[in-house]
Amino acid sequence: MDIQKIREDFPILSRTVYGKPLVYFDNGATTQKPRLVVDSLVDEYYSVNANVHRGVHYLSQQATELHEASRETVRQFINARSTSEVVFTRGTTESINLLVSSFGDEFMQEGDEVILSVMEHHSNIVPWQLLAARKGIAIKVIPMNDKGELLLDEYEKLFSERTKIVSVVQVSNVLGTVNPVKEMIATAHAHGVPFLVDAAQSIPHMKVDVQDLDADFLVFSAHKVYGPTGVGVLYGKEEWLDRMPPYQGGGEMIQHVSFEKTTFNELPFKFEAGTPDYIGTTGLAKALDYVNGIGMEKIAKHEHELTTYALQRLKEIPDMRIFGEAADRGAVISFLVGNIHHFDLGTLLDRLGIAVRTGHHCAQPLMQRLGIEGTVRASFAMYNTKAEIDALVAGIERVSRMF
Ligand code: PMP
Repeated sequence: MDIQKIREDFPILSRTVYGKPLVYFDNGATTQKPRLVVDSLVDEYYSVNANVHRGVHYLSQQATELHEASRETVRQFINARSTSEVVFTRGTTESINLLVSSFGDEFMQEGDEVILSVMEHHSNIVPWQLLAARKGIAIKVIPMNDKGELLLDEYEKLFSERTKIVSVVQVSNVLGTVNPVKEMIATAHAHGVPFLVDAAQSIPHMKVDVQDLDADFLVFSAHKVYGPTGVGVLYGKEEWLDRMPPYQGGGEMIQHVSFEKTTFNELPFKFEAGTPDYIGTTGLAKALDYVNGIGMEKIAKHEHELTTYALQRLKEIPDMRIFGEAADRGAVISFLVGNIHHFDLGTLLDRLGIAVRTGHHCAQPLMQRLGIEGTVRASFAMYNTKAEIDALVAGIERVSRMF
């Protein structure tokens, strides 16, 4: 894998910040975009643009073909059985809200239970809490050990006759923990319970195969896997999606409308009310093609090397505290140094051109479990280098000396 060549595909990586070369370590929040993804958006706006699905004219049909070809690219990427199982949304958050609303309305009654984990992103907590307020469902939480690994024995004990669904993140956006979701899904299925995988932080870094996992639902965002903002995916097994009611009403999701009775479109369109971001979906497909072109195994190997190197180098820094020491971990490292406030450390690193994220990372219950308010988080992507990690370590040492 030729990192320098890959970096040339990402124009933003050659810019400076405060006169320093940009070191971009905020990939967990969003990844940068290769030129071919951005070009695809511009090209389609300039040469194809027309609303999809409804037109008899040439452009509309061409735009529709591109949009549906993107759905096929996503299907292959996650190995879904059919494009009927690939619903386009605005992102992970909307995908989860869709699922919670539709599944919750159809299959959950007062007193029913959902199992989440202590390391969920707010996107996989708050929608369930809104449902709890509406319908009186209960939320149960899988605890973790001090290394940041979920306690699978405790997980098993949380199941009851009232458990209707489990929803857990595959890779923690704070701890980097890779949760054993395949095993956890098998446990849920042994109790006759479906499982939603939040793959927002796994899709960019590892092969995710919905059939191999036997996931009932799986969600992710395009912008975290080198694609554009505003597009996401909800994968759902057809047998579930078929039985679920629409989330939003509007154009596209109907078969026939009258004031007496409306019938709904087939999958996946039943869940796609209104004009979709058909140009963004092309961008997503280009991003996935780009990832395939480099090869997920190579990307994973490179990021693993980077993470191992970063952990080793960061641990050389006095008073370094790293949060998350799971045996199986991804390319995310959260830390604090001595008594330096995470916000101060992040701000001073920024002045050195190093972009990291600070704060609670939309995981306040996890912060509570760790007994802290926030961390500094460095998260890596395929284009990051060991030299950039050296720059981060030197930056932290410099800030530490100032305090
Ligand atoms: N889940 C996880 C694990 C995440 O890391 C994120 C983004 N930080 C989300 C959900 C929400 O993704 P989005 O903001 O793209 O909807």
